[in-house]
This record gives sequence, C-alpha cells and structure tokens, in this order.
Amino acid sequence: MYQKIYNDPDIYRLDIPLPNNPLRNLNCYIIKTREKNLIIDTGFNMPECLEAMKQGLEALEIDIDKTDMFITHMHSDHTGLVPGIMKEDSIIYMSDVDYEYVKMILESFWSKSDESYLKEGFTEEQIDYLKNTNPAIVYNPSKLFKVVTVGDQSKFRIGRYEFKCISTPGHTPGHMCLYLENEKILFSGDHILFDISPNITRWPNVKNSLSDYLKSLNKIKKLKINTTLPAHRKNDMNVYDRIDQLIEHHNERLKETIDILRKNPGINAYDIAGNMKWSLKGKTWEDAPLQQKWFAVGEILAHLDYLEEEKKVFKKYEEGIYKYYEN
Ligand SMILES: [Zn+2]
Repeated sequence: MYQKIYNDPDIYRLDIPLPNNPLRNLNCYIIKTREKNLIIDTGFNMPECLEAMKQGLEALEIDIDKTDMFITHMHSDHTGLVPGIMKEDSIIYMSDVDYEYVKMILESFWSKSDESYLKEGFTEEQIDYLKNTNPAIVYNPSKLFKVVTVGDQSKFRIGRYEFKCISTPGHTPGHMCLYLENEKILFSGDHILFDISPNITRWPNVKNSLSDYLKSLNKIKKLKINTTLPAHRKNDMNVYDRIDQLIEHHNERLKETIDILRKNPGINAYDIAGNMKWSLKGKTWEDAPLQQKWFAVGEILAHLDYLEEEKKVFKKYEEGIYKYYEN
C-alpha cells in the first residue's frame, strides 16, 4: 500500500494503480512532518485511484487539515483526484502556466485539439472514438480547484524543509519538478521517467515543445541530485545518465523522422508515425490501440515542429491535411 523511501524528511510512496493504462501506476509521494504534510500528485479521477489514495492516507494517519499539495503538471493522472481529497481552503501549489491549461482542458481545449488532429491524418471516425475513451479526457478532475500558483525558483516550507519549484516545460507547457536542495532530492514528475520515455507532444500556444523539453533536461543536469523520485514506475538508475539517454532518444527520433520524409515526400504526420519504430509489444501499427496512435502522432508533431524551426522540414496544407517535406 505504502512504502517508506526516505528518512528526514520522512517520505512515503503510495502506489496508485492506473488500470488499463500503459503507465501502470502513479507514484504519489507523501512528506510527513510534525507540523505539516505534503502530497505530491494524485491519480485519475476514478474509483480505483481514489480507493488506493484513501487507504494510503488512512494508514499513514494523514490529517488533511494539516496537509498541502503540490501538483507537478496538469495531466489528469496527476490532477484527477485533487477535488476528491483536498478541502475548499487547502493550499495546492501548481505552476501558473499549467493551471491555465487545466482551465482550458475543462473548457474548449479538446474540440480545438480534435480539429488539429484531423488535419494531421486522423479520420473523423477515429477522433469520435477517442473522445469517449481517452483517459486524458475521461478521468479529469470533477471540477476546477483553487491553487496557489508558483513559478520557477518559488519556494515554500513544509515543517523545517524548504522545497524549491523548478520550472521544466516540455512534457507539458508548465511542468514543474520539486527540489529539496539540502537533501539533494528531486521529485521529477513526468519530466524524467526511467523505464519509459516521457511523452513529448505538440501543445496549443507552444512553438516547439521538444526544444523546451531538451532545455529543461539540461537545466536539471546542473542540479546536485542524489535521489530522483519519478511520478511513474521505478527508478534504478543515475539521473544524469538517464538525461543523456533521453536526449539521445530524441536525437534518434529526429533522424528517423527525416529519413521517413526523405523516402516519402509529402507524407502526413499519421503516416510518419506508422512508419516509425515503436515498442508496441509485438503489435503492428495497424493493430495498435487508437489511443497509442494518438500519443504517437503527438510525439511526431513535436519532432516535426522542432525540425521545422531548424529549417530542416517544411509543410504544405493540401485538401485539409498537412503534408511534410524535407527541406
Ligand atoms: Zn504527464
């Protein structure tokens, strides 16, 4: 149910299951001190997540009246349960940038996103199906919650421990890591994951999210870190080596994208994704679940935006679809 992973400060990890999701679990971290507690990230707004969270909080005897929360980013597997566990007047820290996206998500975000994916090669039928099944849509928080917005280098205290917010845009436009400088502990959210690579996608109002992401990786490289606590799955590796691997992974993807464009000038993003090597657990691209295709195409779009800004790629809008070419 929970696992103690650090002494002074006392840090516990709650394993929140994410049923039927390739991410498998969310690591909710709880910092317990005599004065106050902190909860980092929550899980989807779904009964299985709420049950695991409630059991964990009870077992750890967490008094919600003496508990603040920090949300690393706006994705529903991190924000989903906020209204379910916190009170009206609880302090919930979140980046100002991602809070704006939470508001957008609960309003008009998806209809705009659907329109743009139609222009990248998805069919209306596929988009309609996704609308009702995409966990990013279905398991959102039940309502908007109030937050205390934080920016890069913002600090707050829990007991005698000082937490520093480190802005790391890329995975989402306002993603934040949380850093205990004295203890050299980094809560890396989805910025750095260890046995899967964080999804980097195109975002409205962001020009080049992959470039932002790579800059944010280099930013973390400069911190002194002994312990890295990711938001999903496990970490059994040195964070600096992992950063190098992630940078290498995206460089490979950029090369592969150019290769595909060279062989197939005028190809659309959906078909680029279909030509790319993915780990689809033995499935072919055609057989892959539509949700995975949606994430994969988003990933391709972020790489295309990066290459476009580098002037290595250009696109033409023809018959309602963007077609991509090597420059
Ligand atoms: Zn995420």
